[in-house]
Amino acid sequence: MTTLVWFRQDLRTADNPALAAAAAAGDGVVPIYLDTPLEHGAWAPGAASRWWLHYSLECLSEDLAARGSRLTVRASADTRQELIGMARECGATRVLWNRCYEPAASARDQGIKAALGAAGLAAHSYNSALLREPWEVANKAGGPYQVFTPFWRHCLSLPEPAVPLPAPRRLAAPRNWPQSTTIANLALLPRTGWTLGLHAAWRPGSEGAAVRLAEFLRESFDAYGTLRNRPDLARTSRLSPHLHFGEIGPRQIWHAARVAALAGGRDDSWRQAQFFTELGWREFAHHLLFHFPHTPTEPLRTNFARFPWQSDPQMLCAWQRGMTGYPIVDAGLRELWRTGWMHNRLRMIVASFLVKDLLLPWTLGARWFWDTLVDADLASNTLGWQWVAGCGADAAPFFRIFNPCSQGSKFDPDGGYVRLHVPELAQLPNEWIHRPWEAPPTVLQAAAVRLGETYPKPVVDHGLARDRALAAFATLKN
Ligand code: FAD
Repeated sequence: MTTLVWFRQDLRTADNPALAAAAAAGDGVVPIYLDTPLEHGAWAPGAASRWWLHYSLECLSEDLAARGSRLTVRASADTRQELIGMARECGATRVLWNRCYEPAASARDQGIKAALGAAGLAAHSYNSALLREPWEVANKAGGPYQVFTPFWRHCLSLPEPAVPLPAPRRLAAPRNWPQSTTIANLALLPRTGWTLGLHAAWRPGSEGAAVRLAEFLRESFDAYGTLRNRPDLARTSRLSPHLHFGEIGPRQIWHAARVAALAGGRDDSWRQAQFFTELGWREFAHHLLFHFPHTPTEPLRTNFARFPWQSDPQMLCAWQRGMTGYPIVDAGLRELWRTGWMHNRLRMIVASFLVKDLLLPWTLGARWFWDTLVDADLASNTLGWQWVAGCGADAAPFFRIFNPCSQGSKFDPDGGYVRLHVPELAQLPNEWIHRPWEAPPTVLQAAAVRLGETYPKPVVDHGLARDRALAAFATLKN
């Protein structure tokens, strides 16, 4: 019984239930990847994600080859037909995959399951991406949670997530391999040279994910609770793109972190450690997207549909390019452009600046992140943007408006993060690094900063912008 294993956002061989089930049968296994950008609705992977995908597929392909198998790759406009055709080519009788939860993908997958059944092929799907299925966790009324704390408390009351499955040692070959193109032919890599910074910052693929997890647990896990908000110290795991592409799964991270927590002398309260709570936010994001599939483009709190957003393409461009004149905001946006990633504290600061200081719609920021983040993830991105804009589940209230100068002083106290990403301010003393427009002319001169020439003046006055945002918010109450 030859089996097709259809890889999607589960680009790994360990703790991959679909692959494990196929291998367990002992017959031919045909691992396949179909590039289907047209089947993601409005959310086809952005440029940074496609860059990552290219290298992640190369890594998966090598991993499968080491197990006596090979990755069959195709570009596809119609996955149903492609899967049925491939099954016929290699005599497969069943198709297995791990579930995706994004609205377009899950609707497509349901249709595919029915079509495969009609074509006489068995189809099964598994959970490789979440600790809990979104439909497994319900509040007392049987509905979805909209507040994080009770959601996560409920998750923690359930039995421990399953122990990760080992990678199959060998995968039997089918009698006939189906036709395959090359990964390069999928044309995932951009033609321009902006990916240099991505190469320097990342190692896509399951090996890179394992190295990153081990480094994090060794060097930063113990201090995570106290240092996770410091972008200058870089003490978070940076596992988000690896998780998004399924190069590592949450069960693997959960159990490895549990071992580290117990080795570090924590007692039974290890589940309360902040790192596990962050994995909980990822679960919550998927829970919300599954139950409220309209939220990538519409506010969960419906009164926000009337919010008087501005339209200002020039301001949007200044924000995207990291040229707002607020050093901490610009540093975050330039880190994003250069490396395809941004620290969580910075995501909150730059999002607040776009939505509250510039009064631009959160959906524009979410789109920019979608195209530029290597970890762009519909569930987490939607939750993050709606949380900052105040229009989502359990969101920060709109009237809580980040002051970019005090956020900078608090979370980048020595200005190391700003100096790294905004080199034109590198010579400014700490006192002025987060508010150069207030620095005395002699200080600016000594630091070779000419405001409006070498670095922009602030595009808005934060105090006035704050008042304007609060007035806009007040209109929702009328
Ligand atoms: P760590 O601090 O090491 O946390 C471990 C893991 O927990 C992360 O890899 C991630 O999977 C999960 N996690 C941590 N914080 C959050 C959170 N707030 N929400 C959901 N999951 C979380 N995350 C994405 O993966 N993709 C996105 O597209 C995305 N967009 C965001 C947009 C905004 C406006 C905001 C405020 C947050 C967004 N996040 C997104 C969440 C968070 O910023 C990143 O997950 C985190 O910065 C990734 O870094 P890390 O792997 O070092 O996280």
